Amino acid sequence: MPLARRSQPCDCGLRCGVNSGDKTVLVVGGGPAGMRAAEVARAEGAVVILCDAQPSLGRKFLVAGRGGLNLTHGEPVENFPRRYGSEQARWEDLLAEFGPGDLRLWAAELGTETYVGTSGRVFPEARKAAALLRAWTHRLRDSGVGFCTDARLTILHIESGLWHCGFQSGEPVEAAAVILALGGASWPDTGSDGTWPAMLAAHGVAITPWEAANCGWNVNWSPELLVRAEGLPLKNLTVTAGAESISGELLITHYGIEGGAIYRLGPVLRAMPEPQVTLDLKPQLTPEAVRERLCAISSGDHWSKLCKLSPAATALIETMFPDDCRHAEWLAARIKAFPLRLVSPRPIAEAISSAGGVKWSDLDDGLMLRRMPGVFVAGEMIDWEAPTGGYLLQGCFSTGTRAGRAAAKFVMG
Ligand SMILES: Cc1cc2nc3c(=O)[nH]c(=O)nc-3n(C[C@H](O)[C@H](O)[C@H](O)COP(=O)(O)OP(=O)(O)OC[C@H]3O[C@@H](n4cnc5c(N)ncnc54)[C@H](O)[C@@H]3O)c2cc1C
Repeated sequence: MPLARRSQPCDCGLRCGVNSGDKTVLVVGGGPAGMRAAEVARAEGAVVILCDAQPSLGRKFLVAGRGGLNLTHGEPVENFPRRYGSEQARWEDLLAEFGPGDLRLWAAELGTETYVGTSGRVFPEARKAAALLRAWTHRLRDSGVGFCTDARLTILHIESGLWHCGFQSGEPVEAAAVILALGGASWPDTGSDGTWPAMLAAHGVAITPWEAANCGWNVNWSPELLVRAEGLPLKNLTVTAGAESISGELLITHYGIEGGAIYRLGPVLRAMPEPQVTLDLKPQLTPEAVRERLCAISSGDHWSKLCKLSPAATALIETMFPDDCRHAEWLAARIKAFPLRLVSPRPIAEAISSAGGVKWSDLDDGLMLRRMPGVFVAGEMIDWEAPTGGYLLQGCFSTGTRAGRAAAKFVMG
C-alpha cells in the first residue's frame, strides 16, 4: 500500500505535504461529498489530496447546521430511493453501500451521537455541524489526507494517462484519478457557485442546467394582503399541485411563500407552464362539515371563527375573493380549494439546494464520467434532487462513498 509521503516542500503544487503522482486520488471540493470520498479513498489505500477553492472546508455543511442539522432521515431505507425521484435502482444500490444506518454509525464514531426527532429527521445531539466537521477534519488529516485550501480548479486535461489539474494560482497537480465534488449552485458564498459546468462541458459531458430546488416562490400579493398577513403562518393545510398533495405549513412573506410544503412540490411546479397550487385551508373538515358550520352563522359571528380559520387564511379569502364571503356555499368551496397562482421560484442563490448537474447517463456504476476515464463525481453536482429533512446530505455521503471507493480501485488496480 503506498503511503502518503509527508515532505516539505511537496511536489503536488499546492503545498499540501503529499506528493502527487500515479497512485494519487485528487479530490476537488471539500464539502461533505468530497470529504467522504477522500476518507473512503484513503481507507482503501490511495494517496489522497483534498483541495477546495475556499480558505476552509465544509462551509455549506456549517450553514446547514445553523437551523438544526438533519444528517439523514429515520424512515426505513427502502423508502429512500423514491425521495430522489429518478434513477431509483441506482439509489437502492448506492444506499446499500452507505445508507442512513451507516451514516449514524459514522457520526457516532466521530463522537457525535444522533437522535430521530418527532418529524423523523435525524439530528446530531448538538443539532449543529461544527463539532462533527472539526472531528472529521482532524481524523482525515491524521489518516494522511493532504489538504490544500484556496485552490480553485480551473482546468482538467489528460496527458500520458495522468490528469493534469490546473488551479487559479499555484502549480498544476497530476493525479491518476480525480474526484470532483464541486457542489450545486445555491448559496454561492459558501463556495459552491455552480460555475464548474463549463469545465466539464469542454470534455463533452452532458449537464442539465441549474434550477432552484427546495425554495420559496414569488406571488403577486396585493398591498392589502401584505398589510394583513405578511409574516404570518398558514398552519395545518394541504397544498396540492398537479397530482401531488403535501400537508404542512406555509409562511406568507413580502415576496411570496416559503415552507416545507412548497419546497416538496418544487419538481411538479417547475414542470407547469403556469405554476399554481390549490390550498385546502381546513383539511381536517369535509366540505359538508365546513358548509354546515358556515350555515350555522348568527348575527355578530364572523365566519372565520366558525371554522377556526387563522388570520392569514381569513386575509387570503377576504382580500382575494371578497365576493365569496357573502355566500356560505361559495365560502365553503373557497376554504376547501383556494387557488394560488405562483409567479416564479426564488433565485437559486437563496435556495436550499439545486436541481441539475451531471446527467446520470454520463456516469458508470462507480460514478466515473464515461467521457473522462479516471474522473469521478459525487454530491450535489450530480443531477438529482431530494426534499429537505436529511435526504440531501445522505445523498452526498452515499455518492461520496461510492466515488471514493471506485477511484481508489482505479488507481490501486
Ligand atoms: C441553508 C441550508 C440548509 C441546509 N440544511 C440541510 C440539512 O439540514 N440536511 C441536509 O441533508 N442538507 C441540508 N442542506 C444541503 C446540504 O448542505 C448540501 O446538499 C451539501 O452541502 C452538498 O454537499 P456537496 O459536498 O455536494 O457540496 P458543497 O457542500 O456545496 O461543497 C462543494 C465544495 O466545492 C468547492 N468548489 C466549488 N468549485 C470549486 C472549484 N472550481 N475548485 C475547488 N473547489 C471548488 C466549494 O468551495 C465547496 O466547498 C442545506 C443547505 C443550505 C443552503
